[in-house]
Amino acid sequence: MLLRVDCEHPEAERWAGDASLEARALPPLLALLRVAGVSATLAFVGRTAERHPELVRAAVEAGHAIAGHSHTHARAYAGQGLDWQIADLRAMRAAIAQAGGGNVRGLAPPCHGAVDAATLQAAGVAGLDYVLRLPAETEAGDGHVAGTPAPAPSTARGPQGPTGTSFVPVDGPRSLLVPPAQMGWIWDWTPLQPGWPAFSAARATAEWQAAVDRAATGGALLGFILHPWIMASNAPQGEADAVAALLSYARTKGARVETFDALATAARGARPASSTTNTRPGIANGRANARNGRGTPHERREGARGATA
Ligand SMILES: [Zn+2]
Repeated sequence: MLLRVDCEHPEAERWAGDASLEARALPPLLALLRVAGVSATLAFVGRTAERHPELVRAAVEAGHAIAGHSHTHARAYAGQGLDWQIADLRAMRAAIAQAGGGNVRGLAPPCHGAVDAATLQAAGVAGLDYVLRLPAETEAGDGHVAGTPAPAPSTARGPQGPTGTSFVPVDGPRSLLVPPAQMGWIWDWTPLQPGWPAFSAARATAEWQAAVDRAATGGALLGFILHPWIMASNAPQGEADAVAALLSYARTKGARVETFDALATAARGARPASSTTNTRPGIANGRANARNGRGTPHERREGARGATA
């Protein structure tokens, strides 16, 4: 399982009418993750990192990986011009680095993850390593996915295992990595955003546990996206308890919680001939993932900790 936390005060302001909600909501979630003993990937909007560098530092000090969630969260990448996308990604990376989050490797695209071919090209130019593109069905309802469709992941090369447990490369300037098409995704929600029902801990638990069961059965990756401001909005409905219970449930199913950076490092380091033995971070596989010994000490530390979760 890969836990992604989108840190985005513009969305808290847009939908909950309170930009400061984000800063109040993240510390309790960090405490929850510490108790659960898991390392997450915190995807910061660049402007959120500028406004709240203390949140970025707290996440780094807690041992979480840092990714980017656009610079302003004003619109989807899909359909924007290449130059605009490059400029936005560069501004995002600079803001997060300035806040102490290091040089982020991954983009968690906003607005239902809608990206196009230009996004992957821009990500390569901006120095990113991977883009967390969501499957097409997850983008349903977004309503505007313009531009040239992004190329499909290459299955002819790269370390993709038979059950899609590793990132896969797509053609591009730097052969950017994207999640395998078989990866599942779950997330929290709020009726403050149009089209979503009231949050119910019972319904969330049922849906999330079913996704864990499917991933465990298929040995596939599962992404779990949380939003601090949504968790705060759903406090009366008990979202935090539901999240903690789901993490506990996943552990009983043999899941490890990995960071996306660790997964990307494993994919980069894997050789096709040995890919089925050294990149198996699937949810059903409780074995420690054999590290390739490359990457930074920080990445290796994350990998070691992830293997215990
Ligand atoms: Zn977002």
